[in-house]
Amino acid sequence: MATRPLLVVHGGAWNIPEDMVAAHERGVRAAVERGWSVLTKGCSAVDAVEESVVILEEDETFDAGLGSFLTSASTVQMDALIMDGGTLRAGGVGGVERVRNAVRLSRLILDKSPHVYFVGEGAEQFAAEHGMELIDNKELVIPREVERLRGFKARLASGHADDTFAGPQISHDTVGAVAVDGKGNIAAATSTGGTLNKTPGRVGDSSLIGCGCYADNQSAAVSCTGWGEPIMKLVLAKWAADRVQAGHDPQASANSAIQMLQRRLSGHGGMIVVDTLGRYGIAHNTPRMAWGVADGSGVKVGIKR
Ligand code: ASP
Repeated sequence: MATRPLLVVHGGAWNIPEDMVAAHERGVRAAVERGWSVLTKGCSAVDAVEESVVILEEDETFDAGLGSFLTSASTVQMDALIMDGGTLRAGGVGGVERVRNAVRLSRLILDKSPHVYFVGEGAEQFAAEHGMELIDNKELVIPREVERLRGFKARLASGHADDTFAGPQISHDTVGAVAVDGKGNIAAATSTGGTLNKTPGRVGDSSLIGCGCYADNQSAAVSCTGWGEPIMKLVLAKWAADRVQAGHDPQASANSAIQMLQRRLSGHGGMIVVDTLGRYGIAHNTPRMAWGVADGSGVKVGIKR
């Protein structure tokens, strides 16, 4: 049975300041347009979410790929996951430093490996063995992030206790996409540089199956952003997908997942959800969230829902 395709992307959920709104909207629009052109060519939902996320990784506005937040050691360490709801195949990476697009490496793992998840050097070795170019980590580091890390460390040193990972004023610019294709298959992808000043080796929710990303045709495709540790503890993407499977619509499921995140662990963030019926939901408990939708009636983008 042919389904009406649908694509939803996000570019983080936090208190996006006024002077960064236009860049976020531009970025999510470009990502939606790219993913939509892939979907409407008859490609799969997995192809569409991969291509959308590549656009966001290459846009230095966001905390993924080029322009990612820096670790406390001034390096970029990226996590990403892509999942196909039709087959439950998935590919994920944690702590990679030398690939330009972590989501492309995740897709390579989904397509070519019997395994699901690779970390660090092993992930990079897998990339190289499959013809992916390895780059110098410095190519992903931009001056804005060097300055942001310097400022953050200075504030911490002067005793600003509110400047922790938990503060909603800390930006969450992780990117993600969820889609349903013309065959009724759904997919999700999430990619991130993680949290600012993270300890090297820390992996957040974004690339962990069921935490920051999940897709199953029997329930929903979900991509999250926000403070990773509470999201991981609650396995939030799977929690929202289970609500869809239990009969709630994607918007109600996203709303209750974000409310639960707040209630249980005082967490903050946002999520996007689609199901195989082509219904979607967008929810966040942060002041703003960058999102974009394409559903055949055009492209919509916004900074608040
Ligand atoms: N959830 C991501 C992490 O904790 C950060 C983000 O969404 O910006 O790694």
